[in-house]
Amino acid sequence: PVRVLTGIKPSGTPHLGNYVGAIRPTVRASRQPQVDSFLFLADYHAMISTQDPARLQRSTLEIAATWIACGLDPQRVTFYRQSDVPEIPELTWFLTCVCGKGLLNRAHAYKAMLDKNAAAGAEPDDGVSAGLFMYPVLMAADILMFNAHQVPVGRDQVQHIEMARDMASSFNHLYGEHFTLPEAVIEDSVATLPGLDGRKMSKSYDNVIPLFAPREQLRKLIMGIVTDSKAPGEPKATEGSALFQIYQAFATPEETAALARAYAEGIAWGEAKEVLFERIDREITPMRATYEELMAHPERVEAILQAGAAKARAVASPFIRQLRHAVGLRPLQ
Ligand code: ATP
Repeated sequence: PVRVLTGIKPSGTPHLGNYVGAIRPTVRASRQPQVDSFLFLADYHAMISTQDPARLQRSTLEIAATWIACGLDPQRVTFYRQSDVPEIPELTWFLTCVCGKGLLNRAHAYKAMLDKNAAAGAEPDDGVSAGLFMYPVLMAADILMFNAHQVPVGRDQVQHIEMARDMASSFNHLYGEHFTLPEAVIEDSVATLPGLDGRKMSKSYDNVIPLFAPREQLRKLIMGIVTDSKAPGEPKATEGSALFQIYQAFATPEETAALARAYAEGIAWGEAKEVLFERIDREITPMRATYEELMAHPERVEAILQAGAAKARAVASPFIRQLRHAVGLRPLQ
């Protein structure tokens, strides 16, 4: 089987864009028989941007419950919280010591901060924590800890996978062949879901539909999607219609074709929105129920994460023992 590793950042409330673009495809991929899927909640990473303990905990719980509700099978998948695996920060240090500082200087996220500061006339490293600077090393440890073969990422993350390969090669060169070199799998195929205003659905545009919005709120939000001012009876264009694009992300090809016909026949916007609402609600309702059930019983989520951590550590713990030996450290009891 191919070991595929995916990190999930516990930040904010998931929206339909996250569901269509990340959660749904990842959950589907994790069900393929030839895939050995490792999925983790990246709470150490979240600490780089959040210093609010209650929010970090709440977010981690919400995101875990979301993924389980969306069909992730914790029996099949190794689903764990990053901070439950202390071998990861230990490996981070091993990799830190074989990672050239210059490599980190070239990381896009860090360079973006430098550019921003330069533009603002500030000191180069203003607002840059060592955590932000070191982020690619922690990410390399996430991947190499489990010898993942494939890491599905957006284009902006490819550089980080290359850096992980670089660290793995350096380590292997110095201490023997311990690490598999991971490959980035670039996900271009997933469509970008538009938000209420037609731009990409994004928290930063404040145009999102929360994935588990209660039914009535979901309806209200959908009724607020921008359309043109064509009257009922006038034919409508599917091209450039946010409503149509969102529908397409949920519907079967047959249903999509039926809506395209209704557009051509001049369906009223209010009616089209009703069709969209019913379609999304049909897909979301069972998941929303599971989500609410889990959020009412956080101990169930915790038990799932604990079981996941045990599975992850069954891999990580013997491997770190091997690595400690390789670098010349005493075995821990
Ligand atoms: P923001 O809402 O602030 O733009 P985000 O929702 O993009 O942030 P991320 O954590 O960057 O949140 O994204 C999580 C995952 O959701 C990524 O895989 C990203 O590609 C996907 N995603 C986010 N927004 C959309 C969208 N509108 N359509 C499709 N996929 C999306």
